[in-house]
Amino acid sequence: MKIERNDMLSVIIPAFNEEDNVLNVAGRIKEVLNDNKISFEIIFIDDGSADGTWAVINGLKDKNIRGIRFSRNFGKEGAIFAGLGAAKGNCVLVIDCDLQHPPELIPRMYGFWREGYEVVEAKKQSRGRESFFYKLCSKLFYKIMESSSNIDVKRASDFKLLDRKAVDALLRLPERLTFFRALSSWIGFKTIEIEFEVAPRTSGKTKWNYKKLISFAISNLTSFSNVPMQFITFAGIIFLIFAFILGSYTIVEFVQGKSLAGYPTTVLLILIVGSFLMIGLGVIGYYISKIYEEIKFRPRFIIKEEVGESDVEE
Ligand code: UDP
Ligand code: MG
Repeated sequence: MKIERNDMLSVIIPAFNEEDNVLNVAGRIKEVLNDNKISFEIIFIDDGSADGTWAVINGLKDKNIRGIRFSRNFGKEGAIFAGLGAAKGNCVLVIDCDLQHPPELIPRMYGFWREGYEVVEAKKQSRGRESFFYKLCSKLFYKIMESSSNIDVKRASDFKLLDRKAVDALLRLPERLTFFRALSSWIGFKTIEIEFEVAPRTSGKTKWNYKKLISFAISNLTSFSNVPMQFITFAGIIFLIFAFILGSYTIVEFVQGKSLAGYPTTVLLILIVGSFLMIGLGVIGYYISKIYEEIKFRPRFIIKEEVGESDVEE
């Protein structure tokens, strides 16, 4: 019995307005895991859905399936961490609710865990269907992330399998503003990567829009790197060189008695200096607001209700 429990796989599924997908994904995962004789529990985290997601989860009535419902939408990161905290297995898998992450890969990932790997990262082979602008933005975002954090986040996804040790390490991190995708490699451990082809969404729409994506990118960039701040310093240095050249030129003009034409230069200087100062203040202000967010120590999520009892003893 004990051995069985140690081998149990906890499957964490964040779900936000996924009423049409919950049954599907639960069915597919159960089938795959039963076929491969892997003992498991499934934990749905309803991230404050406005549709019937909770009703569907509630109606599953399966001894291996549990549900956690948030009091409002806290975002996928909160949902993932709630799942990590609730998972009882020694091996934990995070997977999307829309079947874009193929459940057929789970036995392979689980196999790697049995071989001793502690983090199994599934990477996107191609990024699925995305618009040109979307591709451009994500490329830029990942370039900056990579150069600043030494973490290969391109093609990374939240589709991961983690050993209990890695899960506990993640849960011990004190920060509130997390970026699961990058943290899972930041914590180290014996890691292996596998590739998967992003399937189209089975039903419903993606929860992302450009506004959400941009704020997601900025927030993750600043929580993982200081590049935006360094950029300000760098711009400052460039501008100093520029100012030095212009200054020398102005003095030469003055000495030669031709300095009347200085008006445009003055205006230009004020504008350039002003804009750099403003950008700089903005970036610093952003970091300060993040410090403020962290220092409040608010929980990442608030649970409204839970359903289901896994048959695993505490
Ligand atoms: N999700 C969530 N909270 C949110 C947004 C999304 O729990 O605020 C879940 C969603 O239900 C899905 C997963 O995160 O299971 C991925 O979301 P989505 O498919 O919208 O993102 P994409 O695949 O387009 O990156
Ligand atoms: Mg999706």
